[in-house]
Amino acid sequence: MAYRLSLSRMDELLEKMRESYTIYAPMRFEKRGRYSDTDLVRYDKIRSVRDIVYDEKSHFSPKEVIHPITQALFHFTEFEYRESEVDERPVLVFVRPCDIHGIQRLDTMFLENGDAADPYYKRLRDKVKFVLMECGKGWDTCFCVSMGTNRTEDYSLAVRFAGEELLLEVKDPSFRPLFASEKTADFRPEFVSANRLTVRLPEIKSRDVLEKVHALPLWESYDTRCLSCGACTAACVSCSCFTTSDVAYSENGRSGDRRRVWASCLHKDFTVMAGGHGFRKTPGERMRFRTLHKVYDFRARFGGADMCVGCGRCTDRCPQLISFAATLNRLSGEVDRLNAEAAAATGVSV
Ligand code: SF4
Ligand code: SF4
Repeated sequence: MAYRLSLSRMDELLEKMRESYTIYAPMRFEKRGRYSDTDLVRYDKIRSVRDIVYDEKSHFSPKEVIHPITQALFHFTEFEYRESEVDERPVLVFVRPCDIHGIQRLDTMFLENGDAADPYYKRLRDKVKFVLMECGKGWDTCFCVSMGTNRTEDYSLAVRFAGEELLLEVKDPSFRPLFASEKTADFRPEFVSANRLTVRLPEIKSRDVLEKVHALPLWESYDTRCLSCGACTAACVSCSCFTTSDVAYSENGRSGDRRRVWASCLHKDFTVMAGGHGFRKTPGERMRFRTLHKVYDFRARFGGADMCVGCGRCTDRCPQLISFAATLNRLSGEVDRLNAEAAAATGVSV
C-alpha cells in the first residue's frame, strides 16, 4: 500500500513511530563541514521529517548507526568484566539503495566472515529496519549502476519527498495499522537507471595476472598523491576495519572500557606488528590493498557482489581529489592488457 501525506501529517505519524523506534536520517550540521563556512550532512536521530536532508548526498554513510565510530564492548575492573548494554528499542534508518547494499556488505563482513557472528554488530543490526529514500538521479561521483546497487527490495517503507508532501510505500505489515486511515496513492519508488559515471570492473582471470596486478607501476603513482589520511574509508559505507583499545579510568587505572574504534587500511600504521614490521609500507601498496579488496578479494572470498557499492563518497571526501572510479577504470585497462598478454602467451583467446 502507498499513501500521500503532508509533511505535517507525516510528523504526527513520526511522533507515534518514535514511541517505539529510534529514527535516524541524514541531517544538516551547519558550519561543521570541511571548511568553516560549509555544512556537514551526516546521520543522527531525527525528531521531524523536516530534519531529513534528502536532496543532497550525505557526507558520511549510515554505517555508524550499526558500526559506531567508537563502541564500548565491555567494562572491566581488575577482577571482572561486564558487557556493555545497548538501547533495546528497534531502529528505523532512512537510506538510499546503494547504502542498503553497503550494509549488506557489512553484514557479510561481521556475520559471515568466520566461525561466529560478531555479537556487538549483530545486537545492533538485528534491530534495524530501512526506510528507502528514493534516489532519482544520483550525483556526479555515483556509479551505483556499474556496481549493480542502484535497486533494492530490502526495505520496510519507501519515501519520495515532493515539496510540502511525500509519498510513502508501506511494505512491512507491522506499519500498516499506523497508516490505515491515510489517503492512499499510487506509488512505487523509482531507481536510478544511469549514472553520469560508468565504471568498468577489472576481470582478473588468473593467479599469474593477479601477481602482475600487484606489481603494476600505477600503484606507485599514489605514493605521492595519497596522504594516508583515511578520509575515504571513514566515509565508505562498506569499510568495516576497526581496532580495539583499552581506555583506563583516571581514578583507577586497572578498570576501564574496551572499545572498538574505526580504523583504516590506508593509515600508515594499520599493518604494523610487534617489532615494527609492516606489510604495506607505502601509500601505493595500501591503495592497492583497498582497491583490490573492494573489487576483487571480497567477491573472490564470498562470491556474488563486490564490496564497493559505487556511492562515490570516497571520491567526494578525498582531499587529494583521488577518484575511485578513475582508479578502477585505470586498473581495468591494465588488467585487460595483462589478460591479453597472458592469452597470447598460452595461445588462448580472451
Ligand atoms: S569504495 Fe568509495 S564508492 Fe565504493 S562503497 Fe566505498 S565510498 Fe562508496
Ligand atoms: S581520502 Fe584520499 S588522500 Fe586520504 S587516504 Fe583516501 S585516497 Fe588517500
